[in-house]
Amino acid sequence: MAARKLFLLSGDGIGPEAMAEVKKIIAAMNKTGAGFETEEGLVGGCAYDAHGKAISETDMEKALAADAVLFGAVGGPKWDSVPYEVRPEAGLLRLRKDLALFANLRPAICYPALADSSSLKKDIIEGLDILIVRELTGGVYFGEPKEIIDLGNGQKRGIDTQVYDTFEIERISGVAFELARTRKNHVTSMEKRNVMKSGVLWNEVVTQTHKAKYSDVKLDHMLADAGGMQLVRWPKQFDVIVTDNLFGDMLSDVAAMLTGSLGMLPSASLGAPDAKTGKRKALYEPVHGSAPDIAGQGIANPIAMIASFAMCLRYSFGMVAEADSLEAAIAAVLDDGLRTRDIMSAGMQEVGTTAMGDAILAKFLA
Ligand code: NAD
Repeated sequence: MAARKLFLLSGDGIGPEAMAEVKKIIAAMNKTGAGFETEEGLVGGCAYDAHGKAISETDMEKALAADAVLFGAVGGPKWDSVPYEVRPEAGLLRLRKDLALFANLRPAICYPALADSSSLKKDIIEGLDILIVRELTGGVYFGEPKEIIDLGNGQKRGIDTQVYDTFEIERISGVAFELARTRKNHVTSMEKRNVMKSGVLWNEVVTQTHKAKYSDVKLDHMLADAGGMQLVRWPKQFDVIVTDNLFGDMLSDVAAMLTGSLGMLPSASLGAPDAKTGKRKALYEPVHGSAPDIAGQGIANPIAMIASFAMCLRYSFGMVAEADSLEAAIAAVLDDGLRTRDIMSAGMQEVGTTAMGDAILAKFLA
């Protein structure tokens, strides 16, 4: 069997603390022949300290050569005043761009043991399992012109351009339909076709893509603002939601917070399948940042990072049984009442990062 090449970029703040728990799982899996080969690099503030750049060319090459990149978190007050082009986040943006990661996958799963800690009522949230597929490399965040111009009359004009081409909508909706086939077979596409031309095209192309290749999947269309409302009204009506970069940014944050703490939320960003090998470039990262307020204290929740590794097993290596059992191990540890501080509630047992990671590993191996 060919080695499974993982490139680990732990980054700053709590990134390395959370990644340490994933390394234990990788080591345990290697003992039973999983064949992971890992290399480590620097990204973010630590890379800036070492080379004056948010990621070095050598590490970029390693990221490009890997089957998957595991990313911790970057940033912190120490680097708040470094030049804009070498700020910590520039490392992540460079990775997304050079690996052409156009599909961002954010699951929102409500673990039964945490259903009481959501801001929504338990019956609305219990058993929730939705996946938001956000277009990540196009739309208004990248469209040109993008500028502030001086109108010469004491006024300025800020311009961003929302632009999508057919192929961008085809490929992101293809990812959503394919993922839906492995789940409940239902896609809801969200745009604003009532007021945006790009929304009209989005709707048209998703419909055509569905008709041409994925008519076995149930497809619904919803205006993105109505979608936001429905997400907090009755989120269990959704399976996979596909949407553009801007709406996806907001809707995925709304969906994420349905399930509680930032420390629980994984994500995956995928590129196009390679023409020869069929493998997609991929980067897996927790949704949270480097949490400088708790870094170094041993209290960070490692679940988002571990669940990101579960996504890596599922999407980059097709290790579905292992991914299922790692996710089940997380749920089982929560059922046992173990909590890191961010998800602590009355009657539960508070544990630190290492103890949480060890408990999940023990359940995973059991
Ligand atoms: P943050 O996600 O780092 O923290 C927000 C709050 O959530 C903090 O109170 C933090 O303690 C808590 N939190 C986050 N993750 C946690 C975990 N795993 N366990 C327990 N508590 C957790 O967001 P922020 O405070 O806005 O940003 C801090 C730094 O991280 C900034 O430099 C920001 O630019 C950077 N950031 C990086 C990324 C990334 O690397 N992808 C994402 C967001 C923010």
